[in-house]
Amino acid sequence: MGRICVASHHRSLQDLLDAQEFRDLARRDEFLIELRLDQYADLSLDKFSNACAELGLENVVVTYRSSLEGGHNLKASREQRVAYLSAAARLGVAYVDVELTTLDENKLLRNPLFASRGDKPNPLFIFSYHDFGGLPTLAYLSEIRRRCERLGADIVKIAASAKTMAETLPLAQLMSEREGWTRPFMGIAMGEAGLWSRVLGPIFPHAAPFGFARGESAPGTAPGQLSWRQLHERYRYHEIGPGTPVYGVIGNPIAHSLSPRMHNAALRAAGLPGAYLPFRVEDAAFFVQQLAPLLNVRGLSVTIPHKEAVQAVCAEIDPLAQKVGAINTLARREHGWFATNTDARAAAGSLEAALGGPGSLRGKTVLIIGAGGAARAVGFGVKDLGAEVLFHNRTAERAEKLAHEVGGRSVSKEELTQPGFEATAVVNTTPLGMHPKVDGTPLEKNELPGGSLVFDTVYNPQRTKLLQLAEDRGLKTLEGLAMFVAQGAAQFELFTGAKAPCDVMEQVVREALAVRTPS
Ligand code: NAP
Repeated sequence: MGRICVASHHRSLQDLLDAQEFRDLARRDEFLIELRLDQYADLSLDKFSNACAELGLENVVVTYRSSLEGGHNLKASREQRVAYLSAAARLGVAYVDVELTTLDENKLLRNPLFASRGDKPNPLFIFSYHDFGGLPTLAYLSEIRRRCERLGADIVKIAASAKTMAETLPLAQLMSEREGWTRPFMGIAMGEAGLWSRVLGPIFPHAAPFGFARGESAPGTAPGQLSWRQLHERYRYHEIGPGTPVYGVIGNPIAHSLSPRMHNAALRAAGLPGAYLPFRVEDAAFFVQQLAPLLNVRGLSVTIPHKEAVQAVCAEIDPLAQKVGAINTLARREHGWFATNTDARAAAGSLEAALGGPGSLRGKTVLIIGAGGAARAVGFGVKDLGAEVLFHNRTAERAEKLAHEVGGRSVSKEELTQPGFEATAVVNTTPLGMHPKVDGTPLEKNELPGGSLVFDTVYNPQRTKLLQLAEDRGLKTLEGLAMFVAQGAAQFELFTGAKAPCDVMEQVVREALAVRTPS
């Protein structure tokens, strides 16, 4: 079982000991606490050994980071840092993390640190390397790892910043190497692009026995920095190991995607192994071809701006997705990536279900407002189920072009507001009404065709202005959330072969949206 080491962010040892969150974590087997001695204004040997005793020696990782490697205490001399790390070793804490630079400077054999270990099993020594300037090449990373092993590390740790997903490749390559290494290894790519390295460490050969997370109460969280609760509860870190299937969503930006919450909750509810991650990806083809195989990725949701570009790397594309011209799902098969578009079927299926079940769209008229990506998916989806499709769009030419492709017709505002105009369903695929501009609506109350079911693909907020107006007119309504959950459920079933727990998925998304847009 991989443990989670929660880094103390406190400015004093007293603050750390006063923090109930950390005291509670120290009592749980799945967690370790990292004491960052360079951060504590009240640091003394007495207070330090007292803190170790209070938290439990077997639960403590100790480091005293030099200012060159991100340490906060600019005045701490090398001797002072080594003296504290030696004291930690004498106390017998679980792990002592020493920077490679500190070791080199101290000439290993005369290093008091090692004298302090004696014959005791604890501590295990982590030799670490930090680089805030960027992720070095694979050759350089290998050289650092080799040096740490040669110097006698029990565990080797490399943490370096990565601005793009492509920059994280050398780390993934190094972590994937099976042969030639003798010590457990921990690789961390700092920054949003490297989020995978904080979750997926245990899938790699020679994985270190723990990974890092921040406290729930730690201030100033950047994307990519996960809290222990996220790592433990959302990603089930303690269950991740070699062979764990990995799924995720690729897009840019991606930090606000609800898909990781929804899919991880579904995996857990279905009792299936796996972790579903947000991957902020600049170049989709690069990720799918180079990184995904190293990270054991079996299935991907695809979102803006990659829905078209990924077609180039697929071995097989579902005919409906080909017609839509956009991919939102990739599933790894033996012969390569199978691509499909679950948005189209999810939209059409949700509408069909709301109208009375299978066959209820056949021969019926569906008016789609908008002519972008969502309109394409809904248009081809409902057409596939036998509906007649009309498009209305701010830019009329786009509506005409799409109508021609789908085999429908474009309509003007004048036509759709005529008294005799009828449509079984009206579907909004524009962003009008979406948070934060919640007062937007593509049609006013008196412009809605009488008798229609009104479906808004916007799901944040769940009850949009358009749906409220429709309700005021006494019309039936359908929330965009139904489509979002249905497209995710179809992906889940494609990825895992298991039935999707739709109720759980819907519940999780509703809860997440309620927090984002409190009423
Ligand atoms: P898109 O490709 O950018 O298309 C946007 C469409 O909305 C275009 O037709 C555009 O008209 C129209 N539009 C934008 N702003 C407008 C305005 N102020 N007034 C009138 N029309 C306007 O976007 P998309 O990918 O289709 O996504 C659109 C929306 O669909 C998203 O905001 C999302 O809420 C929803 N969606 C929901 C789901 C779901 O699972 N429920 C899935 C996908 C999308 P022009 O052609 O004139 O620019």
